[in-house]
Amino acid sequence: MTVGYPFSAVVGHDDLKLALLLNAVSPAIGGVLVRGEKGTAKSTVVRSLAALLPRVAVVAGCRFSCDPAAPDPSCPDGPHASGLSPQPRPARLVELPVGASEDRVAGSLDLERALTEGVKAYEPGLLAAAHRGVLYVDEVNLLHDHLVDLLLDAAAMGVAHVEREGVSVRHAARFLLVGTMNPEEGELRPQLLDRFGLAVEVRASRDPAERAEVVRRRLAFDAGPAGFARAYAGGERDLALRIAAARERLPAVALPDDALRKITAVCAAFDVEGMRADLVMARTAVALAAWEGRDEVTSDDVRTAARLALPHRRRRDPFDDPSGGPGGGPGDGKDHGIDEERLEQALADADDAPDDGPDDGPDKGPDDGPDDGGPSGGGGEQAPVNQAPVNPGAPYRTRLLAPEAAGRGGPAGRRGRTTGESGRTVGARTPDGRLRRLNLAATLAAAAPHQHRRGHERGRAGSRLVLRREDLRESLREGRESNLVLFCVDASGSMAARARMRAVKGAVLSLLLDAYQRRDKVGLVTFRGAEATVALPPTSSVDLASARLARLATGGRTPLAAGLRRAEQVLAAERLRDPRRRPLLVVVTDGRHTAGPDPVTAARRLSGVASVVVDCEHGPVRLGLAGRLAAALGGTAIRLEELAAGHLAAVVRDVRRVA
Ligand SMILES: [Zn+2]
Repeated sequence: MTVGYPFSAVVGHDDLKLALLLNAVSPAIGGVLVRGEKGTAKSTVVRSLAALLPRVAVVAGCRFSCDPAAPDPSCPDGPHASGLSPQPRPARLVELPVGASEDRVAGSLDLERALTEGVKAYEPGLLAAAHRGVLYVDEVNLLHDHLVDLLLDAAAMGVAHVEREGVSVRHAARFLLVGTMNPEEGELRPQLLDRFGLAVEVRASRDPAERAEVVRRRLAFDAGPAGFARAYAGGERDLALRIAAARERLPAVALPDDALRKITAVCAAFDVEGMRADLVMARTAVALAAWEGRDEVTSDDVRTAARLALPHRRRRDPFDDPSGGPGGGPGDGKDHGIDEERLEQALADADDAPDDGPDDGPDKGPDDGPDDGGPSGGGGEQAPVNQAPVNPGAPYRTRLLAPEAAGRGGPAGRRGRTTGESGRTVGARTPDGRLRRLNLAATLAAAAPHQHRRGHERGRAGSRLVLRREDLRESLREGRESNLVLFCVDASGSMAARARMRAVKGAVLSLLLDAYQRRDKVGLVTFRGAEATVALPPTSSVDLASARLARLATGGRTPLAAGLRRAEQVLAAERLRDPRRRPLLVVVTDGRHTAGPDPVTAARRLSGVASVVVDCEHGPVRLGLAGRLAAALGGTAIRLEELAAGHLAAVVRDVRRVA
């Protein structure tokens, strides 16, 4: 048995430890999202939590961890007899790997047996294993969309649900959700972000003495884990006892009116969406009081709760500059903390506020509008929120978001084909392995010719349909996949001089947002002067990509061939790293080259890759160089002007389909 690193031996990381402990005291807080760069021991701290959790009493033999005092009435291993003696076992920490299959997570239902033998054969998944424990997702930002949906459903309802063609199984799945992520590798989908009760930013200490202590302990642990764990056994026991005591105290902790008013004032001041933040803050403040051994929530509890519960709840836009706007340097972590001054102001304002009724205050959010102040005329039809003047270099927000809806007017079916989570049915086949998606029509067609004979074999089976394994057919579906979209952008003087760069940046940002919505990876190669550079290695972070693009230097000569060669290298490296993700190359250029060799040879080397050339040439006399380049690449050319109509996203999707 492996010995884990003790929680009490972790140096620093006070916010993270507190967030985890508060959730251990009050799982209703809703989990923790841990953001931080690599090498900050995020995972170590999370994994060490399980050892501190109180043991759980379960029904012996139940694979779904039913509580003997209140067994799940829908438990697939039930119904359980009452008055069973509880079997205590340690609380589990279950890790959900990013690449896990749906069956592995939600459990798998043997559809074949269900249909041919009438037996519900269900194999529990990770959600069942995590029930009443911790579900830990490392690199949660890289989790596949369908797993995210599964997780959100389970987390929202406390129930895992598997359904295959009308055969369904459900069981309780309540767990403490902990996710860790490195924001440099991509942001989390906003829907998932809000599901985490608390969020903490983790960074390595800047204090040399503290860093030395981290290293010292790690070396000691690696040299002798068992001895190291023994040295901290007392600390671990104290923490476990304190959690248990706080859990007991929790129901008795009072949340006075003035503390509640502070909570709601702070949430209002930070313009958070919905009411979830208020609830989470209240639960956190109460848990904190219980953890400190108090019976009443104080102002300090509210302040700490705000720091843990609000950073990830401010309204975000995928194009928010990660550096936090002018002045804020990248990586200073400020954008993910909360504005302390505003917090203090809100807390102070709540103290001054009159007791009678809510006061809207001067700065109402835009969606407070319809609720008060008497709608004049079509009050319900508010103007779109994004009415702010858009600067020309900004992405085509409206256009960009429009294609999803506007696409219905365009070539129907093309888009639809790529939007479904699991794709549309394009045929049927005999299952290769486990049957997952029954194609009923094809199955019946396969079974029909044998019914007469089977009826006789069964003796008088009457009119019942007799299905055999060999009849079963599954649907063949076309799913969607994510791609790597690599931009290769001409940043030379010829482009800048014509003030085309702005339009190009806008176009690329538009594509970035499209890629973001589709969970594509994006990368950026630029070329100017004597060389090409990888401005952005392939990433899922649209924040990063847009920031790099905004800072893009321009000017100089045009080494087009070098740009293409660089793109080829990036694609080759990425093929090794992520072989299943198919690449798409978008070359943004006017086709000129004024430095380095002729680009045609370099282009031909890329002819195996799906590509689009965005032709930035303009003026009355056109040389058509971009068209020639597209031909050499074996790709499509599209004029920059066409981007305004949102064509590029459509072209890219078409290319993606055939890629
Ligand atoms: Zn059970």
